Amino acid sequence: MILYPIKKIRLDFPILSTLMNSYPLAYLDNAATTQKPNIVIDSQSYYYKNECSAAHRSVHSLSSISTNHIETVRTYIAKFINTSIPEEIIFVKGVTDAINFIANSWGRNFINYGDNILISAMEHHANILPWQNLAKEKKIELNYIPLLPDGSLNLSKLSELINRRTKLLSISHISNVLGIINPLTEIIDIVRTKSNARILIDGAQGIAHQKVDVQKLDCDFYVFSGHKIYATYGVGIMYGKYELLNTMDPWVVGGGIVKNVSLTQEPTFVDIPWKFEPGSPDVSGIVALGNAVKYINTIGIKNIYNYENQLISYAINTLKQQNLHLTLYGSDCNKSSIIAFNLKSYDSYDVGMLLNQYGVAIRTGHHCAIPLMNHFQVPGMCRASIAMYTNKDDIDQFIHGLNQIKHLFH
Ligand code: PLP
Repeated sequence: MILYPIKKIRLDFPILSTLMNSYPLAYLDNAATTQKPNIVIDSQSYYYKNECSAAHRSVHSLSSISTNHIETVRTYIAKFINTSIPEEIIFVKGVTDAINFIANSWGRNFINYGDNILISAMEHHANILPWQNLAKEKKIELNYIPLLPDGSLNLSKLSELINRRTKLLSISHISNVLGIINPLTEIIDIVRTKSNARILIDGAQGIAHQKVDVQKLDCDFYVFSGHKIYATYGVGIMYGKYELLNTMDPWVVGGGIVKNVSLTQEPTFVDIPWKFEPGSPDVSGIVALGNAVKYINTIGIKNIYNYENQLISYAINTLKQQNLHLTLYGSDCNKSSIIAFNLKSYDSYDVGMLLNQYGVAIRTGHHCAIPLMNHFQVPGMCRASIAMYTNKDDIDQFIHGLNQIKHLFH
């Protein structure tokens, strides 16, 4: 193992010292949501005790504090994903909100009958349903990059799915079920050589595990949710290229985004990013997101990446050595942070319920990726997913739990 301050990190996350069913909590449901460090938890109560006020509205001092918080966090996030233009960072509620926004604001205006959109068969429903809605409404073609038997993208089919009428490729950075890291650079290169399609990356599972550099990637949109990166629910980020955002109209409209509203004429809107942030923002959530990013920066995203890679390899290698009759999905692909499996033909819910008795929290079911379940012809899978604070004991407890369950079933 590399030198990595795992003990100190674990102390920063209070929930990790709790018990579940009399066992130390082995929290392996990080792909669903991550736990929060003290710096994030405390910042919320500090904000509500000392600074609560509406941002961008009033001239009093408290309001300026809230406004400053929002704009400071915007610049942190810009730096975190390496754009020099903070206006390219829009606060949204999360990935679901962001993709629906892009489909409805950009998609409805720029994709027309005869055009086509490309996604993949491994996507989360949040990156399928908005495009199915749009395809139905505008009568456009929606195509899917097929999968190889191991669940990775069949990129040999990519070129034939792209043509001059391809207006968008929307794809996940990392699969939320299999943990497969999609080769974004290769994919984007192919798309750019064959079309002028815009590229949207669903970063829900990527952002907490890998360095994201939107300039290097040359994507048009990159979206992620705060709660999967150690911050709180209800705040996420939509990155979009400046010139592209400037061509777009608000989708949700209301207070805080207008220059002028009249009873007889079209409204005029303020500039980006504010024109896409209607209503009263969740300032405490934005502050929490800023603190989560600060926390990650103190550890270093590259250190987190290296640490998690070693831990996931340890977990997979150890699992393979057990006589557990597991089916591991996508385990030999280039992957990160997630192990998807089934134990014999037992229902994933039963396995999850039993692991819970041993203090192990995993996710079960279809993982909001029913087309991917269909690819493997299973109704569901078990998913164990790690984060920067997961340690070897968590993995050992998980494997011990599986061994106990195997005996229970026999
Ligand atoms: N996309 C992927 C790949 C996800 O894993 C998730 C959540 O699990 C989402 C989208 C939706 O994220 P949210 O529920 O935070 O909007």
